[in-house]
Amino acid sequence: MKRRLQIAIDGTAGVGKTTIGQMLANMLACPYLDTGAMYRAVALLTLRTGTNPSNIAELERLSQNLNFEARDVTPQEAVDGRQYTVLVDGEDVSQAIRDPQVESIVSQIAAISEVRVALVQKQREMAERAGTIIMIGRDIASVVLPNAELKIFLDASPEVRAMRRNRQAGSGEEQARQNLEQRDKLDSQRAVSPLVVAPGAIVIDTDNLNPQQVLERIKAEIAKILD
Ligand code: C5P
Repeated sequence: MKRRLQIAIDGTAGVGKTTIGQMLANMLACPYLDTGAMYRAVALLTLRTGTNPSNIAELERLSQNLNFEARDVTPQEAVDGRQYTVLVDGEDVSQAIRDPQVESIVSQIAAISEVRVALVQKQREMAERAGTIIMIGRDIASVVLPNAELKIFLDASPEVRAMRRNRQAGSGEEQARQNLEQRDKLDSQRAVSPLVVAPGAIVIDTDNLNPQQVLERIKAEIAKILD
C-alpha cells in the first residue's frame, strides 16, 4: 500500500505558502488545500449576507453550511493570475475572496472559535478522504493535522513579503506591508489556534530563497521521511 504523507505548511501572511504548496502537490501528484480560502469564503458570506461579525451563532451556521470546493484552474481562468479556482455553492468566488473588504475582516472572523471548529472538521474530513495531502494555513501542524508526517513553517521579513505581494497584486508596497503585519498580529495573538511554530516543525526563512530553492529544501526533508 502507498504510504500516507500529510504535509502541513504554516506561516505568515503572503510568505508564498500557496505557491510552494502547489509546486509540491504537482510534484507528488496529490491534492492540496489552502485553508485560508475557506476562512476568506466565510468572510465573504458574512459581508454578502450583511451578518454582523459579532453575531457568533450566525457565523457558526455560515461556517457549518459552507459548501466549498477548490479545484485546478482551466487555461481560460488562469489569465487573471489566480492560483486555483474556489467555488462556493457552485459560484466562482476566486476573485471575490481576495477583495480588500474580505481581507479587512477575515482575521477577525478566523479568531472565532465556533468558526474554526466547523472549518477544521471539514479540513480533517478532506485530509481523511485524500490520504496524501498538502495542507496550507496557520494552524495545520498545531491543530488540524498534528500527526502530519512533515511540518513546515515558512517565514520571511514583512518587507520581502510585501514586495512579493505587490508584484502579484500591483498594489502599493507600503499598504501591502501594513496589511500583512496587521493580519500576522491578529493571527498570532488570538486566543484560539494562534499562528505558532508547532513542535517538530522545520522553519524555513525564505528571505533569500526563490520558490525552487524552498522546494528543494522541502524535497530533502521528504526524502528523509521516505528513506
Ligand atoms: O492564507 P490567507 O492569507 O489566505 O488566510 C487568510 C486569513 O485566514 C489569515 O490571515 C488568517 O486570519 C485566517 N486563517 C486562519 N487559519 C488558517 C488559514 C487562514 O486563521 N488555517
